[in-house]
Amino acid sequence: MSSLRATLLGTGTSTGVPVIGCSCTVCTSEDPRDNRLRCSAYIVAETDEGPIHLVIDTGPDLRQQALRYGVEKVDGVLYTHHHFDHIVGVDDLRPYCFSPRTSIPCYANEETADSLRGTHGYIFKDGTYPGIVKLSLHEIDGPFSVGSRYGHNGSVTVIPVPARHGDMDVLGFRIGRFAYLTDVNAVTEESFALLADVEVLILDGLRETPHQTHFTFAEATAVAQRVAARETYFIHMTHTVLHAEMNAQLPEGIQLAYDGLTLYVEGE
Ligand SMILES: [Zn+2]
Ligand SMILES: [Zn+2]
Repeated sequence: MSSLRATLLGTGTSTGVPVIGCSCTVCTSEDPRDNRLRCSAYIVAETDEGPIHLVIDTGPDLRQQALRYGVEKVDGVLYTHHHFDHIVGVDDLRPYCFSPRTSIPCYANEETADSLRGTHGYIFKDGTYPGIVKLSLHEIDGPFSVGSRYGHNGSVTVIPVPARHGDMDVLGFRIGRFAYLTDVNAVTEESFALLADVEVLILDGLRETPHQTHFTFAEATAVAQRVAARETYFIHMTHTVLHAEMNAQLPEGIQLAYDGLTLYVEGE
C-alpha cells in the first residue's frame, strides 16, 4: 500500500447532532462542525495495482453520507459492532452491487456476525429475495486482506484491533499507519501493541462526563497519549460538545473530528 485517504463520513453519537427536538446551544449552532451524522468512515487505500475502497460501518445516514462525500466504490465493509447506529444502513449498499454484480465482503467478529444474521437474516442467511443487496459475511479474529471488486489484483491488509464497549467485544481496525476505534471504553495491552507506530488515530471520545460504554475526553486523551500517534481525532461526540470550545482545550496533537474531515497517511 503506497498511501491512504480516510474521510470521516459521520462523527456523532447514536442520535446524531442536532438531536431531534433539542434547542440547546450545540444543536442550534451555526458551526457546521457541530452537525454530526452517525459514525462511519470511507477509506481509499492506494496499491501499485489500483485503489481498494473500504467502508467502516453502515449506519442510518449511509445514503446521504455516500452522496455527500462521493463514496463511489466499495470493495469491503468493516463492522465494528452491531449497535443500530453502526449497521442499520446496510441496505444502502445495494447500488454498489449494480456493477459489478459480485457480492461485497463484510468483515465482523463473531458476536457482530451472529447479530447481523439475526437482525438482517434476509440478507445474511437467506439471500434469495430478488434485487437484494449481495453481501458475504466473514467472521474474523485476526488480520485479513481485502481485494478489488473492480478488476485489479491489488489488496490491502486489515488488522482488527479488539476492544471493549461496555460488556461487548468490538473491533477497531488498523490499515497501514491509520487506525479507527469507535465505541470503546477499554483498550487491552494486546491492542496497544497492535497500535504501535500508528500515525493517525481515530478514537471514541463521547463527552466530558463519564459513560458506561464510551471513553470520556480525559480517558480518550490518556489512550491517545499512550499510542502517541502524530495526530489523534475524537469521534462519536454528543450534543454536549461545542466543537470550537472543546477543541481549543485538547492537548497538542489531539483534536475533535468533524463530518467530512479527510486525512492522508503515507504507506509503510
Ligand atoms: Zn455508536
Ligand atoms: Zn455502540
